[in-house]
Amino acid sequence: MGAMHQLAQLDHAYLWHPFTQMHDWLNGEPIVVVSGEGAILRDARGREYLDGNSSIWTNLHGHSHPKINGAIRRQLKKIAHSSALGLANEPASLLAAELVRAANPGSVFPATRKRARRNGSEHSIHAALFPPLSKVFFSDDGSTAMEVALKLAYEFARRAGRSKKPTFLSLADGYHGDTVGAVSLGHIELFHRACTGLLFKSDKVMSPYCYRCPFNRAKPERADARDTRRCNWECVTQVERKFAAQRGRGNPYAAMVIEPLIQGAAGMIPQPAGWLRRAAEIARDHGAQLIADEVMTGFGRTGASSTVNPQLSTALFACHHEGVQPDFLALAKGLTGGYLPMAATLTTQAVFDAFLGEYDAFKTFFHGHSYTANQLGAAAALASLELLRSAASVRARQRLEQTLREEVKTLWPLPNTGDIRQVGLIVGVELVRDWRWREPFELRERAGARVCEAMAKRGVLTRPIGSVVVLMPPYCTTPTQVGQMVRALRDGIDEVFGKRRL
Ligand code: PMP
Repeated sequence: MGAMHQLAQLDHAYLWHPFTQMHDWLNGEPIVVVSGEGAILRDARGREYLDGNSSIWTNLHGHSHPKINGAIRRQLKKIAHSSALGLANEPASLLAAELVRAANPGSVFPATRKRARRNGSEHSIHAALFPPLSKVFFSDDGSTAMEVALKLAYEFARRAGRSKKPTFLSLADGYHGDTVGAVSLGHIELFHRACTGLLFKSDKVMSPYCYRCPFNRAKPERADARDTRRCNWECVTQVERKFAAQRGRGNPYAAMVIEPLIQGAAGMIPQPAGWLRRAAEIARDHGAQLIADEVMTGFGRTGASSTVNPQLSTALFACHHEGVQPDFLALAKGLTGGYLPMAATLTTQAVFDAFLGEYDAFKTFFHGHSYTANQLGAAAALASLELLRSAASVRARQRLEQTLREEVKTLWPLPNTGDIRQVGLIVGVELVRDWRWREPFELRERAGARVCEAMAKRGVLTRPIGSVVVLMPPYCTTPTQVGQMVRALRDGIDEVFGKRRL
């Protein structure tokens, strides 16, 4: 190769990349993306790549989608941005209404009503367990959406007299963003170590990680560990215990924070069917609020995977697949179809009301960002929601989910495949040294990273989480492109660990 591309040289000279060891980065020429179309990214040297992780889980319908491009252009002719401090704007008003509609699908309620009826007084229980989400607070990204939920839940618990010093429960290895509050809710050791003194304490409970669960007595098999597990739902018992113990300490949890159906940055850890509903019910029974971080799982990513009621399968949010309605729904990434940085935190009328009062009662929510409710982002989000609702998009998602399921099966004969876990349109393949013992690679071996580097050489881009390789393509990805992605993964594993088959 000749001299490094000029844009790559500028990058090396001036940029500092997120979650990147810059020492390594500076050792090679980076891929400089200059354009994209559908599932394809093109670089400054004219090479094409498949976007195997939807540009870090953001893109939904593909790059340069004519409908979203058009919506942004039309909005741009009017105005790009005006402040939400003291002013309303057209697309943000429309978007808030659309988000409230999407977050309260009629199909979620019959199931919960039936359950409530079984348990006694229909209406009050239903309303108390699953109050509708009716208010939208906009912000900029997943971390700020979570920060907003955290601050609102904290203050709500104090104002409701539940706790003077509200505390939170979240899942082991959970990740909710990089701002200080969001990091405090997360439990990834490596990230905590980096800024321990800055963080507040939150409690953690084991995540239902069937593949590596200490309570799972099943031997490793060539199948998703959730399907072969042998346990007594100890993960749910642990949630109950945590709540009971905290109540015993006289300061019941203000809220439980969950990534519903699958934890992303934790390593694509899916929850066995029914876990979410049980955990949510325990939290409710203890009077805690529920914060659903759907930054990754929102907007159809979890596919048609409802385990409770097939009617819920068309729901756009993961919680709804198990008939759960949270008090806070944090959305970002796919909100704008992956085009612009915008986020939203949806909450209930009860939370909203706790911040109402005369001016001098100073109950205002003192929080906001310069670009809150940005018009370009809102216009893109409206177009994206419209696409999501189209029959063509529903069909494409169903087909992609099925194609992924079929294709990734071909990885089971590889002895370095430990677990293949799929929730909807999200796949995590956990690589191990030896599948028979679930023997992990050490982090420093960069097993996942090396395989992803080998995939990049084959024209497929994705990023690993430790030893877990993620496939999460845009919804427009064709079966042929899925085939290419999985082939690149298989050939990448062969290149890194040697070609072996069971
Ligand atoms: N929550 C979850 C579940 C996420 O996956 C992420 C980002 N990967 C965040 C929050 C933070 O989002 P952002 O990077 O947009 O701040």
